[in-house]
Amino acid sequence: VRPPIIWLVVAFGAGLWAGLDAFLLWWWSALVGGAALVLSRQAPWPAAVACAAAAGVLWGGAARARTQATCAAQWTDGTRGVWLELDDPAPAAGGVVLATVRWNTCRGRVRVRWPEARARPGGARVLVGGRWRAARDRPGVLVVRHVGATLPDRGLKGTLRHGVSTRLQQLFGARASVAEALVTGRGTDLDSRLRERYVRSGLAHLLSISGLHVGFFAWWVGWFTRRLGAGPKWRALLPPICTAVYIWFLGWPAPATRAGALVVLEAIARHRERRVVPSALVALTVLAVLLVDPNAVHSVGAWLSVAAVSGLVWARPLAELGGAAGRLLAPSVGATVFTAPISAFAFGTVAPVGLFANLVAVPIGACVVPGLLATLVASLVSDGLASWLAAGTGVGLWAMDQVAALAAAIPGGHTATVPGWGSAVPWIAVLVLAVWAAEARRWAAARRIAASVALGAWLLAANAVVARDESGRLTVHFLAVGQGDAAVLRTPNGHWMVIDGGPLEMGSDAGRRVVVPFLRRRGVTELSLAVASHGDADHLGGLPAVIETFPPDVVLEPGQPLPRPLYLEFLADVEASGAEWRAGRKGDRFTLDGVTVEVLHPDSAWMARGLDANENSLVLRVTYGDVRFVFPGDAGILMEHTVTATVGRATVLKVGHHGSATATSDAWLAAMAPSVAIVSVGRNNRYGHPSPDVIARLDARGVRVLRTDAQGLITLSTDGFTLDLDTEHRAHADVRHHD
Ligand SMILES: [Zn+2]
Repeated sequence: VRPPIIWLVVAFGAGLWAGLDAFLLWWWSALVGGAALVLSRQAPWPAAVACAAAAGVLWGGAARARTQATCAAQWTDGTRGVWLELDDPAPAAGGVVLATVRWNTCRGRVRVRWPEARARPGGARVLVGGRWRAARDRPGVLVVRHVGATLPDRGLKGTLRHGVSTRLQQLFGARASVAEALVTGRGTDLDSRLRERYVRSGLAHLLSISGLHVGFFAWWVGWFTRRLGAGPKWRALLPPICTAVYIWFLGWPAPATRAGALVVLEAIARHRERRVVPSALVALTVLAVLLVDPNAVHSVGAWLSVAAVSGLVWARPLAELGGAAGRLLAPSVGATVFTAPISAFAFGTVAPVGLFANLVAVPIGACVVPGLLATLVASLVSDGLASWLAAGTGVGLWAMDQVAALAAAIPGGHTATVPGWGSAVPWIAVLVLAVWAAEARRWAAARRIAASVALGAWLLAANAVVARDESGRLTVHFLAVGQGDAAVLRTPNGHWMVIDGGPLEMGSDAGRRVVVPFLRRRGVTELSLAVASHGDADHLGGLPAVIETFPPDVVLEPGQPLPRPLYLEFLADVEASGAEWRAGRKGDRFTLDGVTVEVLHPDSAWMARGLDANENSLVLRVTYGDVRFVFPGDAGILMEHTVTATVGRATVLKVGHHGSATATSDAWLAAMAPSVAIVSVGRNNRYGHPSPDVIARLDARGVRVLRTDAQGLITLSTDGFTLDLDTEHRAHADVRHHD
């Protein structure tokens, strides 16, 4: 195998990319086919490259046809009854599961929102009825309402995965979700805070099935075959075969497939006693992935996996330069430098602290992954042995989590920015410099390394300055949505919460028009919390669009059953998003990155009084350090009477009910003594909000009043001690008299 294989693979990949896009397909195949024909006589090498590209186009075109035949691509919004085979067990608590459509005109896997109290084992073949909800920029979901007949026979893979899942639950209890992610790749049960810890410490690759896992697996299989004294034939055959079976069990994820191809190719090379150029080996494994799963060209995981391995190959000569420290650090440096541009582009987070965290965590992982597998195998034989092994592996899992928590907490250990080219460019520069510096030898090399380290450090510093903007601070944006409320909160570690989604009136959806674009510009992909203060259209109206685009972890609302189409549609959207739904009651708390959201009102007794929806608004207190924000929704004097005693001091008050005279009593203001008050209102609204009386009361107390109709977007940012204020339009001295 000679280096041009790299160019053949690159050409194949480029062709594949074009083939997946129907518009480019015909142009490319004509162009590339023609070029191959012209070149074939004089230049066999370019002709081969052109042929590879043409093959890529064809393979991509075929993949596109296969994708279009899937149910997810064909189904439109509406009611469906289908047979499903569950990939993994559907838990009694319900939630999102993956399933394969059976006995239908279309094929493929779909995301399914499973109802509560209808537990079914993995591999079960079930007839279900429900609604398919197609989404524009993410996979659709089948919201199951009715779980019908279940066939007696089950699918093999699902049954196996079910068995593994149940065993891990018994053996590992609270740590079972991590154990399952490590063994079967099922990450749907992982806690979002745990996942974040691993991202921030540069250890995210340990949580998903990466090439590393497959590497550990193959290495241990090889070790056992040697230990058992197997003949050379078995020693050559067993690791690739076992690895292939394991990857089938995982469902052929691209990173695992790539690593599996590497195991097979290495086995072949060893068998034929050939020395293979490492870069050519990487290229061949990429080819294997693209053949198995052409859509991997769109998969971030696949790109990261290839980049990490390229980094390892690149760092190999470096390891020999730097003595023991070099040997230890070089692979980590290589993988980090090569993957940084991709993770900055895709996630906005790069964790240089991973250089060191990986030194500790990877060896732990190398013991934990086989430990989990050994525990599973042992549990088939002896429960005693299994629980003994589980205890040991549990310690490993605990240690891994400790490393992640520690590394994630180191200041400056990671940078969090908005994903996109802007974040990726400095890391691309670091990568180019590193490659360039390493090319040179001896003293020239030392000079170049010094120069690039300096430049790299400067770029990192510049990057950190950009990132510091928001990190370590709680930022609260009050959006100018017209006559209604919408606030967006960003926690110090970059989690997002939304309190109300703006109004929906006469076909104008402030959620779609204002809130969604606002979040999108900031690179938000999901919300930690979405709050509907109450069911009126000027607060709830925009939320369905927001929830549909950015699925929240938790949805909080008063849970007052309102027979309104808007509210019912909102509930359907919450269900479809897979979010956890909570009816907020006094005393409920939600803490994230040092920010606490507390429900001060209503309690269950209050809800039983059957008052107007406004009076049942959730009243929230958001605390970060010494700074507090109070969001009373549209609740008025009645609520204020009951909550005044407990509300305590607050820095910022979102003025209740858009400044209506039915809220914001003197006693309420006296209890909180706010310094800033935000009035969320539409320009020249027909209710006459805010009331001059309310403005006069705020004025009398020297509270600074800001209005979304006058100042537009209002942004408050705090480090927990001081408050910074920024408005879209300049705050006039006489804002209160703006008409
Ligand atoms: Zn309102």
